[in-house]
Amino acid sequence: MHIRLILLLAAVIAGLGAAVLRLRRKKIDNKLCARCGAPAMHGYSKTAESALDDIVPLCVPCLLERLDEDYCTYDGRAVVIQPVAELPCYVFRPKSDWDEQPRADLDTLLAGLQNQCSSCTNPARYLWVNALEAGPVANLPLMGITQTLLAAAGARPISLCASCSVQRIARSFAGQEAGYLEVCGPRGHEDGLVTAMGY
Ligand SMILES: [Zn+2]
Ligand SMILES: [Zn+2]
Repeated sequence: MHIRLILLLAAVIAGLGAAVLRLRRKKIDNKLCARCGAPAMHGYSKTAESALDDIVPLCVPCLLERLDEDYCTYDGRAVVIQPVAELPCYVFRPKSDWDEQPRADLDTLLAGLQNQCSSCTNPARYLWVNALEAGPVANLPLMGITQTLLAAAGARPISLCASCSVQRIARSFAGQEAGYLEVCGPRGHEDGLVTAMGY
């Protein structure tokens, strides 16, 4: 008798929990773009791991406008990993924020940055690295970029200007159904790395 009661209570609590989760999920889904009022898709912030209040809901076109501005005004050079959908955030972090291996990779890779964008003739400031699966990207903070994403023969980063980098990000976003909780572009003078991650 007691066991049945406990099981029943557990089922009720689990049901309530699921209902609350659905409610919260729906609330996030129903947010509107802070700039134009269209349904919001992603959260945008100025720096990685911003407080929830500092993450602004934006629709895709408004987010891409913000990112274009960030990528065009950034004073450093950055490696940009193609955004993979499975991780909840897509953010820039300066070199000093990373562990030893990604830091060493940033130096090596950025030393090979070409002067000109490989897609147009603008000056290149970014190195684009293709990423199709979440696994290698999730290992990147510990193992670095070269061992995880550039280990295959012929895999090499592509030198790009700001606008061509944002165009590639836009193409990757277009194939994804879910939004990112937090997206931020590069900022400041320090070299760094943009990648999808969970934290
Ligand atoms: Zn908008
Ligand atoms: Zn370009």
